[in-house]
Amino acid sequence: MIKLRNVRLPATANAQLKIWQNEIDRLGNYADQVIAAHKKFKSRNHKDNKTFSQVRTALTRMCSGERRCCYCEDSQANQVEHIKPKSLYPEHVFVWSNYLYACAICNSPKNNRFAVFDSADNVVNVARQNTAPAAPPQPGEPVLINPRRENPTEWMQLDLLSTFWFVPIATPGSKEYKRVEYTIELLDLNRDLLPEARQRAFGDYRARLYEYIEKQKNGASTRQFSYLTKAIQTMPHPTVWFEMKRQHPAIKELNDLFTLAPEALNW
Ligand SMILES: [Zn+2]
Repeated sequence: MIKLRNVRLPATANAQLKIWQNEIDRLGNYADQVIAAHKKFKSRNHKDNKTFSQVRTALTRMCSGERRCCYCEDSQANQVEHIKPKSLYPEHVFVWSNYLYACAICNSPKNNRFAVFDSADNVVNVARQNTAPAAPPQPGEPVLINPRRENPTEWMQLDLLSTFWFVPIATPGSKEYKRVEYTIELLDLNRDLLPEARQRAFGDYRARLYEYIEKQKNGASTRQFSYLTKAIQTMPHPTVWFEMKRQHPAIKELNDLFTLAPEALNW
């Protein structure tokens, strides 16, 4: 999971979302807002809705590969995900910055699970049981790392040397460490098949880089070079590529490759 590129939503869609959000906010009563948020989002979030069609197009531009999920970077993204769940935060149900494109495997278990830090920096789960009366969640900073506005790789990295798991690099015991642990657990980022998929992506990126260096030696057209560069920049698992660049000084094979093609460090 890397920080997502900043994509602009067309002004007309943004204006429409604001009108819809205002409808929810105007209700005043939190329980009514939760019910309306759920109902209105369900009735508008489909492909025939012009605004949501624009939302989906813009969200697609944040994804890697063939619209891969912005959390796991592996499965196809097919759900407009609320980073802050709409069942807890109806004031963010129609807010563009609260959306990303996710797959059902990441999104379903996340559902309305969410946590905030209390004043002593403890992680407090604010998810509400279905039977509990609707009441606003305890205030506090979100624990989940938000890739729309934060850079997850500041606090965690992929282990490229053996497991291909995400592991914390933040100081143990720090808030950032707790955020990494929570994010990995909530989204199940080291679940079955993901490490294998990352390892395969590692091989694919490496092969592309070898191909690029080979073509440099033997000559190729500008078109071929630009094809190869673009292929690397749009492949799934962009975190693997980021980590290859970040960790190359410690991995001899990568260090040799990037020494031959230092420009690739900017891709
Ligand atoms: Zn996913």
